[in-house]
Amino acid sequence: MHDAAGVSLKGMVPLVLHRIVRGQTEVWEDVSEEQFRRMLDFIGERWAVFRPGGSGRDPRWMLTFDDGYLSDYDIVFPLLVERNIQATFFLITDKIGAPGYLDWAQIKEMRRHGMCFGSHSRSHRRMNTIPLAEAREEFAVSKTVIEDKLGEQVAVFSYPYGECSAQLHRAGFDVGYRYLCSSAHGIAGASGTVPRNSINSGLDWNGIERVMDPSAGTRLRWHLEDLVKHVIKGALGRERYMKWRNKAFHG
Ligand SMILES: [Zn+2]
Repeated sequence: MHDAAGVSLKGMVPLVLHRIVRGQTEVWEDVSEEQFRRMLDFIGERWAVFRPGGSGRDPRWMLTFDDGYLSDYDIVFPLLVERNIQATFFLITDKIGAPGYLDWAQIKEMRRHGMCFGSHSRSHRRMNTIPLAEAREEFAVSKTVIEDKLGEQVAVFSYPYGECSAQLHRAGFDVGYRYLCSSAHGIAGASGTVPRNSINSGLDWNGIERVMDPSAGTRLRWHLEDLVKHVIKGALGRERYMKWRNKAFHG
């Protein structure tokens, strides 16, 4: 089932964003339109998507958007088209057409302009908390739904909340995905499991620049942060961890 003509991701800096907002950011995951425009200026022609041949010149950054928010169409899409940049959008198939989310007409229009679409599961449940059979269904049903609507293979999946495991990776590849994206920090390697670096409202422009162009020191800090996050999450439990994160990094 694996697509033979892959994309070389080695050395890329994959970025994950959620909602882009005009004016004040509301939640930790929001990024302002102003900061997003600066990111696009920084990227220039050096972008790539998860599709063979889908890249600008000397590609370095992969812009990805989780959840399929309406801002993907209203704010992001026109800015990308204007600059001839392509990005990857991960859809929660149960949410397509719901208020605040993309609908199929918008998705198809974006696809016609070269945007890449992947699955972000069917229902956005935490996949390592549900039985493996249900996780398989999340992988498989969402893939089929998007493939039927867009008439092309869906090769890439991003885990809700970034929560994954070796067992889930096996199931995801087994279902036919070529790339499985987490929210771990890092630079992409040659494997099909892809880290993604979060851009969020906790970062000012200098912080965003450090994520986009990470020094050796930044990479070491990422490694330590991921370790600490893992430990804090384990100690607080997921719900309390999310509350702590919102408080610690926002306002
Ligand atoms: Zn999500």
